[in-house]
Amino acid sequence: MYPPEIEKLINTLSRFPTVGPRTATRFAFYLLNLSDKERENVIEAISALSNISMCSLCYRSTEKEVCSICSDERRDKSTLCVVEQETDLTSIEKTKFYGGLYFIMGGTVSPLRKKDFDNVRGKELKERASQEEVKEVIIATNQNTEGESTALYIERVLKSCGVKVSRLGRGLPTGGELEYADEETLKSALKGRS
Ligand SMILES: [Zn+2]
Repeated sequence: MYPPEIEKLINTLSRFPTVGPRTATRFAFYLLNLSDKERENVIEAISALSNISMCSLCYRSTEKEVCSICSDERRDKSTLCVVEQETDLTSIEKTKFYGGLYFIMGGTVSPLRKKDFDNVRGKELKERASQEEVKEVIIATNQNTEGESTALYIERVLKSCGVKVSRLGRGLPTGGELEYADEETLKSALKGRS
């Protein structure tokens, strides 16, 4: 319907989260109508992402080998908080209440979908939690069905690591997603871990 260049862009954009073909088409024409300079800025911002890699300890995006949280001497290295994704880490950081380190699983698992287990960092977590300095692991997955099955999986992974394992206190609002919980609620969920 459109020239192949535009069709290709629409196809690419429609793979973005929450973007369907209609929005993708609008984005494509927005980009098409930008001035060369403006479009150059968008291209530059995307290209700069190639400089970002993952922290070798927590898997947060960073431009260094070890991220600013993991390399911060003031943080408590004996506690690891395990989250599903980086946006959850950001929510917990915003509370300014948690002073330990993190580990990002990279997704959730469902017992019904075998391939999920290859997409999360179970093996890496086991290795990390087995390190001498780690004494407690706080499981901070979302409080919904997927978060629940992921938490059970994490508990299993940690069984032989010899660390204390705790879970966030209940009481996150509807949907149970950390990303949308306010700072006070998250703070009391951390305090009320058990
Ligand atoms: Zn890190």
